[in-house]
Amino acid sequence: MIENITSFFHIITATLFIISIRFLSSPETAVKGNFLGICGMIIAVMVTLLSPNITIYKWIITSLFFGGIIGILCAFKVQMTSLPQLIAAFNSLGGLSSVLIASGEIINTTQTPIETSLGLIIGGITFSGSLIAFAKLQKSILTNSIIFRGQQLLNLVLFIGIIVICTYFCITLNTNLFYIMTILTLILGVLLVLPIGGADMPIVISLLNAYSGWAAASIGFSLNNIILIIVGAIIGVSGTILSYIMVKAMNRSLISVILGGFGQQRYSSQQYILQNKIPQSGTPEDAAFIMKNAHKVIIVPGYGMAVARAQHILHEMAKELHEKYGVEVKYAIHPVAGRMPGHMNVLLAEANVSYEDVFELENINREFASTDVAYVIGANDITNPLAQTDASSPIYGMPILDVAKAKTIFFVKRSLASGYSGVENPLFYADNTIMLYGDAKKITEQIVAALEK
Ligand code: NDP
Repeated sequence: MIENITSFFHIITATLFIISIRFLSSPETAVKGNFLGICGMIIAVMVTLLSPNITIYKWIITSLFFGGIIGILCAFKVQMTSLPQLIAAFNSLGGLSSVLIASGEIINTTQTPIETSLGLIIGGITFSGSLIAFAKLQKSILTNSIIFRGQQLLNLVLFIGIIVICTYFCITLNTNLFYIMTILTLILGVLLVLPIGGADMPIVISLLNAYSGWAAASIGFSLNNIILIIVGAIIGVSGTILSYIMVKAMNRSLISVILGGFGQQRYSSQQYILQNKIPQSGTPEDAAFIMKNAHKVIIVPGYGMAVARAQHILHEMAKELHEKYGVEVKYAIHPVAGRMPGHMNVLLAEANVSYEDVFELENINREFASTDVAYVIGANDITNPLAQTDASSPIYGMPILDVAKAKTIFFVKRSLASGYSGVENPLFYADNTIMLYGDAKKITEQIVAALEK
């Protein structure tokens, strides 16, 4: 009887998760999708807690209490700009829990060594890899690719070593082998993410997300927990699909990213700063004048817009240009703009920018040639033409937004500093570029003030 009730709720939960994913695929229905996902998770936790296998509740309640408090604090305290790091940190926790559950199963002499080992291997790589991804997103010393001689060979040896030890472990159930396997997977996770830099980071983040799902699904098999298998598989498949979309959008090979920066060269900035040339700069008033007399303006948001929290005033500027001066205004979104997939879409949606005005790279790139002004706000790498011309650069091969083709380009940023990839942007020195130095929000506020006069 109790099993039938449990199965019934498992079906309800799985259905809620699937509908939730469906709704999350569009910004218009994403809030509803999030709500259904929360409902599914609450039912899944309740059903698990009511399982007759659970006899001691004190540790579960203690963990739920402290975990819940940390979760609530994160939700209220973490800035929108730190969301990518938060996601990397949560991914690492997903990996860590798979490692801990696998260890618990081993201590209790597991009946399913293959599934448990799989959960451990994928979970271990996810845990340590996500910690390195977190450090890279935090702009620590690890941000650039860290490559050393023989790295790929070492990764391969480690991988083969893990498979061999895993096989012996499944045959002998020797716990020492399990501990060695744990250490090796943690090292492999670090080594796989260390060499990733520039344009490959978004792919790695979605891959780690997929890994955390597959680790959970493996552990679900090991614990014979159907809902964990279903949830893990949903996360694993959606993360894999997202990685595939990113790989396609970034013109990369998934295998090279999985192998950890395979084929990457050490990049040293080539000083594109033309010694005798100083970029043209202008004032917000200049920008307001040129934009209000334009027919068409395309706004290109990037990470700096998120840092400055400029999305609301940007929307004000677009409305002012359109409603008062009849300018056609569109937003161009690069797939890796910002620091997480969909980062710009989330921020623009938060500022109530109409979805109809927001265009993906492939749908808007050809319009720059017929555009009067490209207003590049806090974006850099996603416009850098070296991605198409300099084979040694870490962003080489990445499609860019063709802002150079617009009649006038405004770059709103605080300095000539490079973006995440560390590659200098020669576009700052182009004849049709005008730099607007300053914080993205303050500059845009001044433009709006000038437009309102
Ligand atoms: P970039 O990191 O290339 O450039 C952002 C620019 O914003 C900087 O050059 C900085 O210049 C400027 N900036 C920072 N703060 C402010 C501010 N307050 N006001 C105005 N400008 C500011 O960002 P892009 O969005 O162009 O490109 C994204 C990069 O991040 C790509 O290399 C991508 O691969 C990488 N990445 C993307 C992830 C994703 O999932 N989307 C994940 C991890 C990495 P200055 O200091 O001069 O102001």
